[in-house]
Amino acid sequence: MTDIALNESLGSSYAQARERLRNALENAGRTQDAAQLLAVSKTKPAAMIRQAWQLGQREFGENYLQEALEKQNELTDLEGIVWHFIGPLQSNKTRSVAEHFDWVHSVDRLKIAKRLSEQRPTHLSPLNICLQVNISREDSKAGVLPEELAELAKQVATLPNLRLRGLMAIPAPAEGIDAQRQPLAALREAFTALQSNLPDAPLDTLSMGMSDDLEAAVLEGATLVRLGTAIFGARQSA
Ligand SMILES: *Cc1c(COP(=O)(O)O)cnc(C)c1O
Repeated sequence: MTDIALNESLGSSYAQARERLRNALENAGRTQDAAQLLAVSKTKPAAMIRQAWQLGQREFGENYLQEALEKQNELTDLEGIVWHFIGPLQSNKTRSVAEHFDWVHSVDRLKIAKRLSEQRPTHLSPLNICLQVNISREDSKAGVLPEELAELAKQVATLPNLRLRGLMAIPAPAEGIDAQRQPLAALREAFTALQSNLPDAPLDTLSMGMSDDLEAAVLEGATLVRLGTAIFGARQSA
C-alpha cells in the first residue's frame, strides 16, 4: 500500500527534478542536452523504477549489487533502460557487475578495472567506466587520489572490454554554492587534463552533482547528475 502512495508523489517530484536540471543548465548558459539525469534508485522498490521509466527516465543508478540484481530481474521488460553501478565495488562482485550493468562509476583501482574487462561478456558492448576520484581527500572515502589519477587512467584506457568515459566524485558536504563549487571545479580541471593526456579515449562524462549540489555541479560542467532523494524521496537510513 505504501508503494502506491509513494508512487503518486513520484510524478511531481520527478517533474520538479527535471525542472531543476533545466533551470540549472539555463543559468549556467549551457544547452539543455549538456547534462543527463541519472535516477539513483538504491533502496527504492522496482515499482518506483518502473514508474520513473514510464515518465521517460532511462538511466538508473544502483549501489548494492544483490538489491540491484533482484530489481533488474523484475524489470527485464523495460526497453532502453540503462543500468549504472555507482556503489563501492569489491573484487568478488566484479563478475556480476560486468554481466549486468552498462556503466560503472566507482572504479578506483587497476585490479578492479582488469577484472571488469576480463569478465565483461564478449556479446555485450564494452563496459562504460568512470574513475572515482577522492577529490576532497577524505581518509574514509573511496576513490583514487588526484595525483594518482593520470597513471590509473592511462592503464584503464588500454583494457579491451572497457570504455573509459570520464570521472565521478562525491565531494565532502559543504554549505553554500561557492564552497560546493570548489571540489567540483577541481574535478572538472582533472577531467580536462585527462582529456588532453589521453586524446584517443572517449572521455565525455563528468559524473557529479547530487540532490544537494546539483546547481553547483551544473555550473562546473557536470554532464551526468545523480539524483536520488530529489526524485524518489528520502531513504530509510540503513
Ligand atoms: C546515493 C547516491 C547518490 C544520490 O544521492 P542523493 O543525495 O539522494 O541525490 C548519488 N551518487 C552516489 C554515488 C550515491 O551513492
